[in-house]
Amino acid sequence: MKILVTGGAGFIGSAVIRHIIQNTEHQVLNVDKLTYAGNLESLISVADSQRYQFSQTDICDRAALEHLFQTFKPDAVMHLAAESHVDRSISGPFAFIETNIIGTYQLLEAARNYWLNLPKELKNKFRFHHISTDEVYGDLEGTADLFTETTSYSPSSPYSASKASSDHLVRAWHRTYGLPVVVTNCSNNYGPYHFPEKLIPLMILNALQGKPLPIYGNGQQIRDWLFVEDHARALYKVVTEGAVGETYNIGGHNEKANIEVVHAICTLLEELAPNKPEGVQQYKELITYVTDRPGHDVRYAIDASKIKKELGWEPAESFESGLRKTVEWYLSNQEWVEHIQSGEYLSWLEKQYQG
Ligand code: NAD
Repeated sequence: MKILVTGGAGFIGSAVIRHIIQNTEHQVLNVDKLTYAGNLESLISVADSQRYQFSQTDICDRAALEHLFQTFKPDAVMHLAAESHVDRSISGPFAFIETNIIGTYQLLEAARNYWLNLPKELKNKFRFHHISTDEVYGDLEGTADLFTETTSYSPSSPYSASKASSDHLVRAWHRTYGLPVVVTNCSNNYGPYHFPEKLIPLMILNALQGKPLPIYGNGQQIRDWLFVEDHARALYKVVTEGAVGETYNIGGHNEKANIEVVHAICTLLEELAPNKPEGVQQYKELITYVTDRPGHDVRYAIDASKIKKELGWEPAESFESGLRKTVEWYLSNQEWVEHIQSGEYLSWLEKQYQG
């Protein structure tokens, strides 16, 4: 297969590309604009493969997308490119409207034009896989409910509203034009190569530097955590075996309050990084509570029984094993972290692609 992956330089997209190149014979074209969140250093382990190509392209650029479809001739699209950070969506929503809504529209149209002209056999096999989030379902505060594939949408933040819009567009392109789509909605991911603005890497890296560990509100917001490599395996299963027009929820069965997550990180660091920064007796003493994020959802939790029953996928990592792997990864990949923190990953890119 030839798979066009958008957002492949991001956290989950890079895990998907590493998974495909390392475990299959497929070819991948990574289409990524390289915003602040895109980092080609996350793909060093596969960058030399003959089956991997990269194009620095904005998914809002329709002409560039049309050209990539015509030259690469994909059998499937895995669409991960997005603005993805809730806090950034609150301070600057426009980029979210542009990439998540307009960009998805441009990609759908480029895919549809290409798909319409495919010979019948290839046309039937073509897949457009849209990767989305459980945040589109809104909040489960005070209930024991789980999000299922039929839960109605009730997004709270500009980020989740823009993702909800893109989900609706993708389903409409299936219903109206017959484009063969599959949609996945996944819970919070964590693991190696996560950009240090998100909760888990932020806490690990701040603790190692003796900086405060800022917790929103009372820290009781519950998220269902999934190890990123489990997500990558699930996405590959869906794009290759999922039924056209279907939605699959993906989750880790790991509901944890944010404060529990931070305590678990501190405990692991006591064991794995016992030489603490000067003046720090215990990592936990760095925890500080800060004003809650506006519109902060209290609880998300996924019912992932459909993908287990229909496609035989379930997570391989427990929260404990996945978090240990994550902390160990950050401890032994200081160079990746330093390049992000110093902004050097941007100049690395320039050097790498000079000429
Ligand atoms: P990320 O922010 O780490 O990566 C996003 C990537 O998209 C970056 O490489 C960026 O350069 C690229 N990009 C942004 N705008 C672009 C544009 N206009 N054109 C081309 N490329 C562009 O995000 P992530 O955490 O890897 O998430 C990937 C997808 O999975 C997103 O669609 C997100 O909504 C979804 N998702 C994320 C999570 C999570 O916990 N991180 C959970 C469920 C679903």
